[in-house]
Amino acid sequence: MSRHIFVTGGVVSSLGKGLTAASLGCLLENCGLRVRMQKLDPYINVDPGTMNPYQHGEVYVLNDGSEMDLDLGHYERFTHAPLTADCNYTTGKIYSSVIAKERAGEYLGQTVQVIPHITDEIKAGIERLSGPDVDVVITEIGGTVGDIESLPFLEAIRQYSLEQPPQTCLFIHLTLLVHLAASGELKTKPTQQSVGKLREIGIQPDVLVCRTEHPMTEEMRRKISLFCNVRPERVIEEQDVAHSIYELPLMLEREGMSRIIGQALGLELPAPDLSAWERIVDVVRTTEREIDVAVVGKYIGLNDAYKSIYEALAHAGIANGVKIKLHKLSSDDLAADNVAERLGGMHGICVPGGFGGRGIEGKVLAAQWARENNIPYFGLCYGLHMAVIELARNVCGLQGANSQEIDPDTPHPVICLIDEQQKITRKGGTMRLGAQSCQLSQGFARDAYGEDNVSERHRHRYEFNNDYREQLSAAGMAFTGINTEKDLVEIVEIPGHRWFVAVQFHPEFTSKPTRPNPLFRDFVKASMGVDHTSSGGASPGKARRPASHAGREHGAADS
Ligand code: GLN
Repeated sequence: MSRHIFVTGGVVSSLGKGLTAASLGCLLENCGLRVRMQKLDPYINVDPGTMNPYQHGEVYVLNDGSEMDLDLGHYERFTHAPLTADCNYTTGKIYSSVIAKERAGEYLGQTVQVIPHITDEIKAGIERLSGPDVDVVITEIGGTVGDIESLPFLEAIRQYSLEQPPQTCLFIHLTLLVHLAASGELKTKPTQQSVGKLREIGIQPDVLVCRTEHPMTEEMRRKISLFCNVRPERVIEEQDVAHSIYELPLMLEREGMSRIIGQALGLELPAPDLSAWERIVDVVRTTEREIDVAVVGKYIGLNDAYKSIYEALAHAGIANGVKIKLHKLSSDDLAADNVAERLGGMHGICVPGGFGGRGIEGKVLAAQWARENNIPYFGLCYGLHMAVIELARNVCGLQGANSQEIDPDTPHPVICLIDEQQKITRKGGTMRLGAQSCQLSQGFARDAYGEDNVSERHRHRYEFNNDYREQLSAAGMAFTGINTEKDLVEIVEIPGHRWFVAVQFHPEFTSKPTRPNPLFRDFVKASMGVDHTSSGGASPGKARRPASHAGREHGAADS
């Protein structure tokens, strides 16, 4: 039967519960266990797909097309647990399902209530992940203990553990040791209070993971143990990692985490084999060479908005033995009179996904800069739209070329609404979503993947307009990835350029530190070839007509 680990958080939000849960999954998987991961989110949206990144950070997309919390990205990067729609339940999703059942008459005669109907629905969601082929289900509860919204979820996990045989459920609480700079002290009171809140609900944590900027003394450990009713050896310190988030499983293991979990759940666990993670951290720690990569987007002040992209770039850096110095540039502020100054020293330029009109002219400028100066360009979804608009306007002379998303009346809709999207009016979960196949022809992407057919995840409504294929290929663009089933352009490239690839999908979602996405890997590799110290580098304003030769044969027509 499956064991269960519940991860809760206290004191403040953004403590890194997702990373901690993912690291626990990583440890247990490397002890040979079959792990499943799940997140329960207390907000009322059915999924995060309708929220903007300022609210929620990145929307993470699974193979099955589910739009999910970004913590699921950590789960996929740290573990091999298969993720599906059952791996993220929100209050909205739980209530929708209970209300649909009520309308269908499933509770006929009853008053439908939080307890038992909502809590039963939550418990059913947890149960859905267990099974004979699963050793441990790790369920992270979003939000912070003490939030009104979290209560039904906490009540549900309390009930769930009560209904399971002894020694099969474990509660791990992540908390913060507050550092008072003025007195130089670490304070345990907020931790005591947060555990007190949990105990009020009837949950006694078995393990406390204490986030701290400074080492915890033995005395503090004993004090926390006494006041929180947790054995001292199960009060664990989680200091800020020095080099990389991929250090976290190693740090937790040094604190004895797999032994503690094994004992608590009655499992005989061998020591985890963390050699792959040790190697990764070693590379990060010892790498000296650095390249400058610009990410030109509109949610730049937010670390979480492009989480998977930043991680995928880091993975590619590890694979190539180079540090990525990220330059997070706001596309709102990029203009013709500052583009040379801001992008002039970059070794590579990435334009991420996005929605709406704000900041798009800056992204178009970034694509133009990369194309004209032979600087590697990597466009992701909206980044493909921008590259197409740029070439259409500046090389094909199609004045006013645009995406219908930005200008519905554009004279040249080089990016348009996909047919299947024409009649859709509802917003939630209705984009072209999830893994779709892509047939590759010769080019940078085919070289990177080393395969003719790949599957990557999508999240968009607009697409390259096939009416413009001929004109754009005459201008030097190659269409090297096609979804043959729907005849949709999935990849565009500029042959003869150092590396210019834009994709309609989101390769950042399939990158792991142990297996970087091939496109990110080759983008970084190409960026390493840029030498700004010699004349081979960028030269502002020097327009290079993209060549259709340079020793490469591309399947698509370059005239
Ligand atoms: N806004 C664009 C569309 O809907 C691109 C979406 C994205 O970048 N994920 O097609």
